[in-house]
Amino acid sequence: MTVDRRDWLKGLAGTSAAFAAGDLLPQPSRAAELKLAGAKEFTTACNFCSCGCGMVGHVVQGKLVNLEGDPGHVVNEGALCVKGTAMLATHDSPQRVRTPKYRAPGSAEWTEISWDEALDKLARKIQSVRDANWVATEKDGEQEFAVNRTDAIAFLGGAQSTNEECYLWTKSARLYGTSFLEHQARL
Ligand code: SF4
Repeated sequence: MTVDRRDWLKGLAGTSAAFAAGDLLPQPSRAAELKLAGAKEFTTACNFCSCGCGMVGHVVQGKLVNLEGDPGHVVNEGALCVKGTAMLATHDSPQRVRTPKYRAPGSAEWTEISWDEALDKLARKIQSVRDANWVATEKDGEQEFAVNRTDAIAFLGGAQSTNEECYLWTKSARLYGTSFLEHQARL
């Protein structure tokens, strides 16, 4: 189809008339409304850092479909930082790693291993590092004291951990004999 100058001007006049009539005025998006239709709503808190921003979540047929800042929350009044805004992706992203992966020394490939295998590997590694770096005693002048510790292991807790998990984390660090225990929320 070819459009000559006359047709083009006629088309332009028609478009202007449509604008004048308001036919092409921008309409509010109804996508968010439809997405949450019939959803069960609940309130929760962002678990990324110790600010504790409030969030509202929506579940449709047992599936979490939305997380957003809670406008009624005293800490954040509906706002979220970039981490909180991206939280839904950490819950349901297809890119999320869901099984342990192992890369053998010298290999460029990651292979999937079972949770049992991963835990065994970790336990053996921690044990060997601890044994190889164990400090049983230390001298202070002529006197020797039992210290029973290792300086080769450090623990770093994450803000996603609950109080109870942090309690167990701290106990574990003490059992391994390290005093290097830090938490992300303090950094
Ligand atoms: S939204 Fe950001 S500032 Fe608020 S708790 Fe989460 S990570 Fe912390």
